[in-house]
Amino acid sequence: MTTQRLEADSPEKFRRAVEAAAALLRQGQVVALPTETVYGLAANALDPVAVRRVYEVKGRPASNPLIVHVASLEMARDCVSAWPETAERLARAFWPGPLTLVLPKADSIPPEVTGGGNTVAIRWPAHPFIQAVILECQFPLAAPSANLANRVSPTTAEHVLAQLNGRIPLVVDGGPCAVGIESTVIDLARQPPRILRPGMIHAEALAPLLPGLGQAPHMPLEACAPASPGLFPKHYAPAAPVRVLSWTSPEHLCQQLRKLGADPAAAHVLAHTTIPQKGPFADVWVLPRDPVAYARALYATWHRCDQQGARLIIMEAVPEESAWAGIADRLRRAEGLASPPA
Ligand code: AMP
Ligand code: MG
Repeated sequence: MTTQRLEADSPEKFRRAVEAAAALLRQGQVVALPTETVYGLAANALDPVAVRRVYEVKGRPASNPLIVHVASLEMARDCVSAWPETAERLARAFWPGPLTLVLPKADSIPPEVTGGGNTVAIRWPAHPFIQAVILECQFPLAAPSANLANRVSPTTAEHVLAQLNGRIPLVVDGGPCAVGIESTVIDLARQPPRILRPGMIHAEALAPLLPGLGQAPHMPLEACAPASPGLFPKHYAPAAPVRVLSWTSPEHLCQQLRKLGADPAAAHVLAHTTIPQKGPFADVWVLPRDPVAYARALYATWHRCDQQGARLIIMEAVPEESAWAGIADRLRRAEGLASPPA
């Protein structure tokens, strides 16, 4: 199969790409589309055969459920069997946007989408392209990130092609993703509501609308595991081993690397505050100091490390603040230090 790549940066190209994507989706095919979080590998969420194809293309275990993408509140309500007042409040505050709500599923949602479970994860994405495709199709789209299982999610069309070229008929280029990491996932199917996966819509932003959510800046991963089968210990990871460290100087960093038995000359250092000169290291990459800009840049930097054949990636530790919680979670998972599911 050859993978066609379509741009969407003029009204005519946008329209042509929407029609091409919708035509393939109606035939039960899977296509890679831009969203504001990461690029998604989309299929008709109501067609079990199309959904199974998503798992095949990604090499994703069937027990790891998919997020269903909608383009209106009405469509969201059609996917669930209960729409509590908390869902309405969160949806009105944060949709379209990088927030996913887990709720009891409607009968129309096949078990292939939900990992066999009776809850479904729903999101109304903010990117105009996927919104236009959903409205054109008039069915919701089940879409995980458009990468091979357990690899870094794509934030550009090039990242998608690097992993899925020849495996899908179409990728639409909607530019670099504005958010850059996966959505915040909240479980509203149980009391009290819990953050299953932290993201850029963080606990402090959610707390005023979800009083029961608790004060913790982020939930420990082990608390998430039973309800969120996708939370494997090593996930969102570049090919090279990742270590998160703090240092006061390049010498201090070198000392720590030697203690770990690592050669500084093998280390690609990704720093945002205490930035060393390249000196003894394989490379030094500067990430933004602001969490929103950092999240936008993170995966592209990991993809570049992968392309350069990095042997070791050293991440500078990030602040323990809720605005950084989604990023801290991705660093822990890349490090493989998150606790395995119970
Ligand atoms: P991804 O598609 O890779 O962004 O992953 C989607 C993630 O959403 C999964 O790995 C789960 O953590 C979470 N998720 C999706 N559906 C459900 C569900 N029904 N219950 C709990 N978590 C879910
Ligand atoms: Mg993913």
